[in-house]
Amino acid sequence: MIELKTPAEIEAMRPAGAFVAGVLEALRAAAAVGVNLLDLDALAHQMIREASAESCYIDYHPSFGASPFGKVLCTSVNDAVLHGLPHDYRLKDGDLLSVDFAASINGWVADSALSVVVGRAREGDERLIEATERALDRAIETAVVGNKLGDISAAIGAVAAGYGYRVNTDFGGHGVGRTMHGEPHVPNNGRAGRGLPLRAGLVIAIEPWFITGTDEIYTDPDGWTLRSADGSRGAHSEHTLAITSDGPIVLTAR
Ligand code: MG
Repeated sequence: MIELKTPAEIEAMRPAGAFVAGVLEALRAAAAVGVNLLDLDALAHQMIREASAESCYIDYHPSFGASPFGKVLCTSVNDAVLHGLPHDYRLKDGDLLSVDFAASINGWVADSALSVVVGRAREGDERLIEATERALDRAIETAVVGNKLGDISAAIGAVAAGYGYRVNTDFGGHGVGRTMHGEPHVPNNGRAGRGLPLRAGLVIAIEPWFITGTDEIYTDPDGWTLRSADGSRGAHSEHTLAITSDGPIVLTAR
């Protein structure tokens, strides 16, 4: 079922959005050569405690997961693109790091992600990140009352195609509310003018992620981390936004 939020409920979601935005800014600032992924997870966990927020990840145990996630952050490095399980790894010069973070405050969830190059960028990495950010921007512009869900998906797919990237539609955006993953699914490619009519009160996470060389992924032996089939690199950008009669409100704006 798709739940529409009242204007008061959307207002009540703002603290979670601002908190998630602040954690991602702190992680962006902290990500540097030599920093361990476990330290980044610990930083986010500390911020959760200080804000009396709740992690959406630590107890997350979907049917495809081998066990509860156990961390508060997804850290996906280089050929890892989504759901990266933080592990004992020190970031190296030129690593492409994607961090995905979701937490709730007062029972309302926000979910957001960004990608960053640590140290000196390798050829193509900044372009890849730019593509996901531009796709997210275009998708947000499209998230207005009167459009269809397919318009958002088509906007993302068009940006990917413009950069020459293929799109995997198995994992994409989703409804956000009192839980992290609700309906509707928001695919990262689709047909304009099709699908669910966008109405005021719809709160969704939009999350374009692209890989340079392929649209195929596989699950790492850790049971969580999704990696590109050909070893090429991935990037990921995500915001949670509310569709309103006055236009989209990006709850996780940084
Ligand atoms: Mg996310």
